[in-house]
Amino acid sequence: MALAKIMIVDDSRTSRKLMRTILEKNDFEVVCEATNGEEAFLKYKEFKPDAVTMDITMPKMDGIEALSLIRKDDSEARVIMVSAAGQREKMVDALKRGADDFVTKPFEEEKVIHTLKDVLKLG
Ligand SMILES: [Mg+2]
Repeated sequence: MALAKIMIVDDSRTSRKLMRTILEKNDFEVVCEATNGEEAFLKYKEFKPDAVTMDITMPKMDGIEALSLIRKDDSEARVIMVSAAGQREKMVDALKRGADDFVTKPFEEEKVIHTLKDVLKLG
């Protein structure tokens, strides 16, 4: 049985694939993927994942806006932001808007899993 159901949000196919590999290898179930903020918001409501990994820079609607929408809709949502190097300001903005934590690209497996378990209180 999976530890938790996760939604991966990222406009980069490579990043989504890498994240999926890390999560599945560590007993998480990826219930869906989204490639922009708008899709993320709709799929969040449809799939009700236990946690979301949310890229910041995406077309149509970025991760910060999607975070705000999801948070407004579900105050219990668990959202971990994904940032590239040099996005410190956006990270601070996301945390102010209710992001639970963040991880940076390139992904480090241990850091990603530790952060998710921490946010989901899985010890
Ligand atoms: Mg991106």
